[in-house]
Amino acid sequence: DTFAGKSRFDKWRVELYPGAFTTLRMLTTPVIESNKLIYVVQVASPLTSTDNAIDNLSFLLFVLLPLTVVITGFAGAFLAKVALNPVHEMIKTINLIKAENLKLRLTLPPSRDEIHELAVTFNEMLNRLEDSFTSQQQFMQDISHELKTPLAILKGELEVTLKRIRTSAEYTTVLESSLEEVNRIARMVENLLTLARFDTKTIALEIELLDLEDFISHVVEDIRGLALLKNIAITHIVPPGSFLKADRAQLRRLLLNLLDNAIKYTNTNGNITVKVSTDKSFTLIRVTDSGIGIPDVELPHIFDRFYRVEKSRQGSGYGLGLSISKSIVEAHKGTISALTTPDHGTSFVITLPKE
Ligand code: ADP
Repeated sequence: DTFAGKSRFDKWRVELYPGAFTTLRMLTTPVIESNKLIYVVQVASPLTSTDNAIDNLSFLLFVLLPLTVVITGFAGAFLAKVALNPVHEMIKTINLIKAENLKLRLTLPPSRDEIHELAVTFNEMLNRLEDSFTSQQQFMQDISHELKTPLAILKGELEVTLKRIRTSAEYTTVLESSLEEVNRIARMVENLLTLARFDTKTIALEIELLDLEDFISHVVEDIRGLALLKNIAITHIVPPGSFLKADRAQLRRLLLNLLDNAIKYTNTNGNITVKVSTDKSFTLIRVTDSGIGIPDVELPHIFDRFYRVEKSRQGSGYGLGLSISKSIVEAHKGTISALTTPDHGTSFVITLPKE
């Protein structure tokens, strides 16, 4: 009855032979028959293998695990360093890039991963920056070059005149031709300023609803005098009830630019037509002349700044007129293009969204 009829586990430390201890785990089970304890069964098993297993586990937990963590940490750091090596190279190159050496490009890492993609994207951005930088520089060079000639003429004229005393008639002639030169320069500077304002979007359009029939007939009347000097007829065809939301002053300037060119590059007795047509969402304005046309190879460049087809062409200006026209059209979210047949004429087509 010590066991109260139940089984029991015990730990038992025994000396197998002198000096060699071992721990046994022992099960004691009473065998009871008709409420009477007949006998007691005791089974014991040494705990050596379990103890060994537990010892091994603690070794694993306390020594190997931290060691693994440390090794993984170092390996991770090493791998990260290797993986980020291209990034260090990229940073070095990027630090070297300045306005003066926009030609530098990142060397693309051999791996096809995000870092490779980043390098490609960065190089593409540099391409765009270089392009716009080069065209700005080109623009500056062109401006300086274009200003140099009229200024040199002016300077020469004034210097020669000042060499000795002149009659008042001579002074008048020189002053008149100087004034002409100064006016040309002033016009050019004003055009440049307009272009710069369009570039920096500092021109605020004053949008109003224009009755195109009325508006275009006024513009045509304003320039008809110039056309008559070359006996050029200007006709305009505007369907009644054509309305357009646009900046009146800018649209006037655009049409005057195109008409001025049409007159300049059309021989005497020619004719010019301004034709308006509309569809649901666009207004098309077409300025067609029967002039000398533009050679096909020049066509892609005529809207570039300072671009002139053959500088010797009569009446050629500074090549800014069409650039300004394009800026005006683009500020109105429209497009402008030219169709031409050399020796037969040119047609400028402006497409403007109605809204
Ligand atoms: P420019 O002040 O020299 O006329 P533009 O920018 O207005 O400059 O025009 C660029 C060039 O395009 C001109 O040099 C001219 O040769 C050509 N061009 C423009 N309009 C016409 C036209 N209606 N007919 C023929 N050539 C034209």
